[in-house]
Amino acid sequence: MTEELAPRDAYRRECSAVVTAVAPGGVILDRTVFYPRGGGQPGDTGVLEWDGGRAAVADTVREQGEVLHVVAAGETPPVGAPVRAVIDWGRRHLLMRTHTALHVLSALVWRDYGAKVTGGNMEPGQARMDFELEAMSVEFGREVEERLNAMLSGSHPVRVRFLPRAEALADPDLIRTKVSLIPEHVDPIRVVDIEGLDRQADGGTHVADTTEVGRVRVTRTESKGKGNKRMRIELDAPPA
Ligand SMILES: [Zn+2]
Repeated sequence: MTEELAPRDAYRRECSAVVTAVAPGGVILDRTVFYPRGGGQPGDTGVLEWDGGRAAVADTVREQGEVLHVVAAGETPPVGAPVRAVIDWGRRHLLMRTHTALHVLSALVWRDYGAKVTGGNMEPGQARMDFELEAMSVEFGREVEERLNAMLSGSHPVRVRFLPRAEALADPDLIRTKVSLIPEHVDPIRVVDIEGLDRQADGGTHVADTTEVGRVRVTRTESKGKGNKRMRIELDAPPA
């Protein structure tokens, strides 16, 4: 099994590793900083470099429990080769900001309007989230935008913890976000805690403080049917 570094250190941009397998379409390493697509967060891109070679990683996915670095055929390093694995940090950091923004948005809509999230999608710097809401309007979008930015600018630390499963299952915030649906063998459970705002079981990468998200704009509000309303957000460039 690949040792995954991103769940404990989202800010790590590269690592040394050894190629353990070359599968159709990709490379498996003994350890990696690459985040495999999951939990709504896209997989990382970047490069693998080795003595005499270099391969672009177009995506990272989880396959049969292994982290597969997706590279084009003919570009793969040999099994046993030491490599340097480097993620596209600009893209990843934007995904970290976007992911944290979505957690705060979901907490806000629950706290102030009592609506649960029904779905979502995230790309670097932009995302959509669907809510169990009866109505959605431009004015509502503006109000949410204002409150969301107020919450983000409050400098809330984001902490990752690994909770024993029994403890996680008894936590009211985690119950609300359906922690019980996590497969039984997962113990401890990784919890992302945006202090004072949101706590949920989550595998993704996040920024360390909500101010690092910067400003967020609600760019569109739309109805996806009765009791299902969609909101699209975009992140501003971070403050210099
Ligand atoms: Zn998440």
